[in-house]
Amino acid sequence: MQVITYLTYLFSSILFIFGIKQLSSPKTARNGNLLAALGMFLAIVITLFDKKIISYELIVIGFIIGSIAGAWMALKVPMTGMPQMVGLLNGFGGGASLLVALSEYNKILTGIEGPFNAATTTTIALSILIGAVTFTGSLIAFGKLQGLVTGKVVTYPLQHPLNALLLVTVLIGGGYLVFNPATVWIVVTITIISLVLGVLLVLPIGGADMPVAISLLNSYSGLAASMTGFVLDNNMLIIAGALVGASGIILTNIMCKAMNRSLMNVLLGGWGNAPTQAGAQTEAEHKPVKSVDAEEAAMIFDSAQTVVIVPGYGMAVAQAQHAVRDLANVLEKKGINVRFAIHPVAGRMPGHMNVLLAEAQVPYEKLYALEDINDDFPNVDVAFIVGANDVVNPAARNNPASPIYGMPILNVDYAKTVIVNKRSLNPGYAGIDNELFYGDNTLMYFGDAKEAITKLVNELKNA
Ligand code: NDP
Repeated sequence: MQVITYLTYLFSSILFIFGIKQLSSPKTARNGNLLAALGMFLAIVITLFDKKIISYELIVIGFIIGSIAGAWMALKVPMTGMPQMVGLLNGFGGGASLLVALSEYNKILTGIEGPFNAATTTTIALSILIGAVTFTGSLIAFGKLQGLVTGKVVTYPLQHPLNALLLVTVLIGGGYLVFNPATVWIVVTITIISLVLGVLLVLPIGGADMPVAISLLNSYSGLAASMTGFVLDNNMLIIAGALVGASGIILTNIMCKAMNRSLMNVLLGGWGNAPTQAGAQTEAEHKPVKSVDAEEAAMIFDSAQTVVIVPGYGMAVAQAQHAVRDLANVLEKKGINVRFAIHPVAGRMPGHMNVLLAEAQVPYEKLYALEDINDDFPNVDVAFIVGANDVVNPAARNNPASPIYGMPILNVDYAKTVIVNKRSLNPGYAGIDNELFYGDNTLMYFGDAKEAITKLVNELKNA
């Protein structure tokens, strides 16, 4: 039986690796997801036959509740709520690792399993630390994205020394546990401190830095699972956790570059050093803006040869991706070259825009990453911004006081004409004004993205 279990775990791991590989391209992502899900299904089934399981009742109850909750979330949570959901699921992963580590400790303490050895207590201590930090950190990230906890940068005196002190205390406590494993109060203390540490590490993160936090917590949840694998001596969990941990840290690195943060800065919890938003406000809000209606916008599009569409969070809110696709089609029928420029942190989760545009059947080859299209904006006749704001804010280039200063942006302001579609002059996620709206070559096309673009498409069809 053990050989079959190990072989199934090996097969599942191979499915995970191929699944992750396929996730790296939108064309194969759906298939990759299915492969990885199949791997997890096989791993769970074979684990259920494992001899250590003595009662299935609680497993069945957990399975039913978890399946109903998972299916409900998958069906009900809108695309705009996905980041919160990912944050919450990361937290559940961390919480599960914490509970497994505590339960394993209890089993050894009460003689059900055992005895203690240095390797087990080390992994139990690490599992508690990473699991607890991931759990509470993810809950705070969820709260911030859901608007339940302030999205602003929260700083407090001696922030970094305090966090370092808490971390060192947990590590010393863990070290003590290795030599004195039966000290229950140490386990309780490091659990509580780790839970507090998770809150303190994520609370200071505000505004535009959230994507980095989410992908880092994703990576932590993988590390927590991997540690639990060592605690339970389960190779499958070790491999699956390591894959999530490694891919999460790669994603974090990509997000860091997109947000102009160094990985070290993130790992040391340097978000609190982000400049405050007050310094970023410009005088721009008092300047006049030029606005156009659907008919005028259609005339400008009609005389263009190259158009670049820049989608952002507003497209997701309005569910305007189908209207955007119709716009691209009607422009192309008129012989206009249409491309999409995708900023890595546009929307509210990595790949948000790619997913929405893929859903609307926009061909992948029309989607250009920031580094592939940015130099071309001076040759673009019309840059059309659909519900994007922070990712096209020139303050990232021009205003050192801005919280987003240094973040690579799409240089849409270099295009000959910029048309911005959004409902008002309100700021985006980072909460800062956008000088793009007041540019000489910028025209505001106000309105809900879906309605406004549908009107525009009708105008273009009638032109
Ligand atoms: P922003 O959040 O900067 O701006 C979105 C704009 O959409 C708003 O200014 C809003 O303006 C407009 N909008 C909202 N609803 C509609 C609607 N129905 N129709 C038209 N417009 C609408 O979005 P970006 O995509 O430019 O930037 C993403 C931001 O989110 C970045 O700051 C990024 O750091 C952050 N972030 C990204 C994550 C990721 O992983 N991608 C995760 C978490 C945060 P108005 O109200 O006037 O309509």
